[in-house]
Amino acid sequence: MGSDDLARVPSVTVMTVTDAWLRCTARAVHERRLWLTELDAAIGDGDHGINLDRGFTALLEDLEAGAIPTGDAGALLASAGRRLLGLVGGASGALYGRALMTAGTRLTGLTADPRIDRRALVEIALAGAIDGITALGRAVPGDKTMLDALAPALDALRAAAPDSPVRDVMLAMAEAAEAGAAATIPLVARKGRASYLGKRSTGHLDPGAASSAILIRCLAHAVTATDGQPVQPDEASTRP
Ligand code: ADP
Ligand code: MG
Repeated sequence: MGSDDLARVPSVTVMTVTDAWLRCTARAVHERRLWLTELDAAIGDGDHGINLDRGFTALLEDLEAGAIPTGDAGALLASAGRRLLGLVGGASGALYGRALMTAGTRLTGLTADPRIDRRALVEIALAGAIDGITALGRAVPGDKTMLDALAPALDALRAAAPDSPVRDVMLAMAEAAEAGAAATIPLVARKGRASYLGKRSTGHLDPGAASSAILIRCLAHAVTATDGQPVQPDEASTRP
């Protein structure tokens, strides 16, 4: 499949992307769990990396044990979201749980539609994730949260020229998420635990924005994994 197509992908391929995304995310979150936890220790309660790692590791075990239905990518994401909700805990467990549930609900059934291309599916899923997080957390970009990485990623995806190669669009999306996360450093937190610190929350990278940038880079990797030159999951600029 060429990288510059707006590929017509069968549902099995969308499932492959979803599966690859969950695996990449579980590995990347595990690798960076201590860093994410340190970020949270600075402006929160120091559990972000540990909690996410526990959730995604258990999710991966579920997937491998066949404990999650994998017939449809949307249904898989939705049940992964329900599992994360119970497994991760804290604000991010509820928010990422809702994000995956909403993204999954929006994708359900669509992935079997041969008229839908990879880029459109990513846009639907990411917009769904953002809507889910916003409905629950009532944050807006600039509040120093995960939305500061996710919203720029969606903007970059939408701003890309319609005929851009999928790989370029995915890379732009990942880089926008990382730049958005880095841009949380000077911000004052207005939502979540870090907001209790008021102005003392400035000068620190938001842990949720950092983990969201990891999730988005893995999405870019998963979408391009079957291309000749996949986006690398571990070349993020926002790194320990
Ligand atoms: P907790 O604060 O319950 O310990 P985590 O440490 O797992 O939860 O996650 C903290 C992250 O959650 C923050 O860095 C921030 O990005 C995100 N967050 C907190 N509240 C909100 C909200 N209302 N909307 C969006 N994201 C939020
Ligand atoms: Mg925390």
